[in-house]
Amino acid sequence: GFNEFQGVVEDCCCDYATVDSLNKEFLHGILQKLVKTPFFRYFKVRLWCDCPFWPDDGMCRLRDCSVCECPENEFPATLKGLASDHLTCQEGKPQGVVDRTLDAQAFQGWTESDNPWTYDDETENGDITYVNLLLNPEKYTGYTGVSAQQIWEAVYNQNCFKDGERDTCAERRVFYRLISGLHTSISAHIAGDYLLDETTAKWGKNYGIMHDRVLMHPERVQNLYFTFLFVLRAVTKAEAYLSQAEYSTGNGAEDQETQELVRRLVNCQRLRTACPIPFDEAQMWRGSDGAELKQQLQNHFRNISALMDCVGCEKCRLWGKLQILGLGTALKILFSVEGQDSSAHKLDLQRNEVIALVNLLSRLSESLELVHEMAHREREREREG
Ligand code: FAD
Repeated sequence: GFNEFQGVVEDCCCDYATVDSLNKEFLHGILQKLVKTPFFRYFKVRLWCDCPFWPDDGMCRLRDCSVCECPENEFPATLKGLASDHLTCQEGKPQGVVDRTLDAQAFQGWTESDNPWTYDDETENGDITYVNLLLNPEKYTGYTGVSAQQIWEAVYNQNCFKDGERDTCAERRVFYRLISGLHTSISAHIAGDYLLDETTAKWGKNYGIMHDRVLMHPERVQNLYFTFLFVLRAVTKAEAYLSQAEYSTGNGAEDQETQELVRRLVNCQRLRTACPIPFDEAQMWRGSDGAELKQQLQNHFRNISALMDCVGCEKCRLWGKLQILGLGTALKILFSVEGQDSSAHKLDLQRNEVIALVNLLSRLSESLELVHEMAHREREREREG
């Protein structure tokens, strides 16, 4: 079973108790607000299922987990923002209207630079859609079986870390932890929002799934902490860039608030005092084979990013792509920018990368909360017998 961990998070620089209190009292709240803002809730993505690794196994268009996109012509400008019964896209909610005018506006001041760690969609022009993430939450979708397992297997094989967290090479261990931590987070969200009864369409928390896939495996929870700290480090390292970036979507007051929230997130005095370096990237790639190893892991990570196009359920693919892009963005910030400080002119991020990064951190933060809450309930139930 799961108990609170003691000491310092493995391969990191802060202890578990500090992460818990920072997240609970500060980060989780800010991130929850941030991902609801107009800038952060629309993710640009190509949802096509064109897997480069194996032939279509028929799972690519699995029903019930499709993301509803809205054809442009469906929403005349005058209808936007108005509640109307015939707007049936994105789970029938009019606020799910995909606002394509956002594109030109929000691109102001944003770069189209490449990310060496991922294959991304931002610079592609065809088949791109905007998805309102709030209307397509990460939760149980019914995507299981061989197709899902095949992806996870390929992801772990890609990374060629057979020894997982016991690997003697620190860099490979870090990459393994990142993937495993993300996997834990996805499982936590499945358990946290599960279809408990199909006939009555009752959704709720599935304690069995949380126990079997997460709580029973302390190392998976530890890797979740690790991934959280790693991404947090990237966000705070990019402080100068993120606090100066433009979050304009044409909604004056709301955009102002977005900017405020980002500043509060990246410039947190409490975090600085309690956990000044959540992960120490300066320790990486220092061996004689550092450069070669970095290239190798970069290639592996790019393959993992491409593998997301093979995920056979659209909603899972959406969140898979977003979160891998988020990790890729963290890798770019930590390992592809020279020097210790990442002053604004050295770092160049795409708008979509920033959206993915912040949404990923929010998912991880939410998972930590879910793990605690559900572990607490599990212990209570055990005591009650
Ligand atoms: P899986 O989660 O498929 O795990 C496969 C194997 O990996 C396990 O048997 C175990 O050996 C190992 N493993 C599991 N967890 C970890 C870990 N944390 N660290 C290291 N090793 C581990 N399903 C949904 O319902 N909603 C979603 O949004 C969703 N998103 C997905 C996104 C991606 C990118 C992928 C690949 C799958 C997604 N799925 C989603 C499917 C889901 O992750 C599971 O694959 C599915 O629920 C079947 O679970 P399982 O119990 O067979 O084990």
